[in-house]
Amino acid sequence: MDIRIQRGWMYNRMLGRDFNPEWLVGVNQFIEFAKSNIQSLGSRQIRCPCRKCKNKRYADYEEVHAHVLANGFVADYWYWTCHGEVQPYNLNTNIRASSSDHIMEDEEDNRYEDVVYDAMRGGSFDCTVGDTMNANIPPNAEAQKFYEILDAAQRPLYEGWNTQSELSLALQLMALKADYNMAHGCFNRMTQIMKTLPPKENLVPNDLYKAKKLVSKLGLSSKKIDCCENGCMLYYKEDQHLTKCKFCKFERFKSSKLGRDKRTSKPVPHKRMHYLPLIPRLKRLYASPKSAPHIR
Ligand SMILES: [Zn+2]
Ligand SMILES: [Zn+2]
Repeated sequence: MDIRIQRGWMYNRMLGRDFNPEWLVGVNQFIEFAKSNIQSLGSRQIRCPCRKCKNKRYADYEEVHAHVLANGFVADYWYWTCHGEVQPYNLNTNIRASSSDHIMEDEEDNRYEDVVYDAMRGGSFDCTVGDTMNANIPPNAEAQKFYEILDAAQRPLYEGWNTQSELSLALQLMALKADYNMAHGCFNRMTQIMKTLPPKENLVPNDLYKAKKLVSKLGLSSKKIDCCENGCMLYYKEDQHLTKCKFCKFERFKSSKLGRDKRTSKPVPHKRMHYLPLIPRLKRLYASPKSAPHIR
């Protein structure tokens, strides 16, 4: 069912002069959903999706509940992506989201490690880890990258300091840069200063280039998938060769008069999405203020 129908209540706050009962139930469901996604991350604070806070402010559940009741939801917040929900663009992630992905693990020892494994399962890495390990043969290039990033997720920033790994620090620094629009030079000065802090052999990234290089290994193969202009479907798997939307009959490609891709001379789709296999788990990390300072 279309999410706008399924969650139609979200923007049907009033019924005459009273609250719409369906709306009240829905808001409760939303709060419960947000709670269930955040509790295992050891926090009580969630982003407030009310019209005033617009998911930019954190608050306790109770406060968020009150805000939403008073102000309503920020526009177009159909998918609760700031609260751990995965927008089901991708069919694979969708299946995972409905099965294991919403079952929150108790342990959250190394959530970055999980991110790496997710990236692997989601197809970011084209390798069969088991085989490579058993056979004891040199891993192929993809597998090599996977091991490197897994290593970075596991490697403490320095000996005996397990609260921050090489990868988690790099991710957080890059998010900081994005959040505050930090200049490239400022980033490098900052990491240079951090580098001088004891102990000497810490794994603070040398500069922005190094941090980016590490983090980019996570999202190796972002895929492009055409989708219906109206958002009805993806041209994916068994539908990958269709040229019209199954539902609204909208053409997949722009008319040839408008031209073709200059490089590939293939027809140009009206709409295309880029899909990163690891995004669900990162989104959940991002939903928590404790671990939020990550990728945007
Ligand atoms: Zn609010
Ligand atoms: Zn359509």
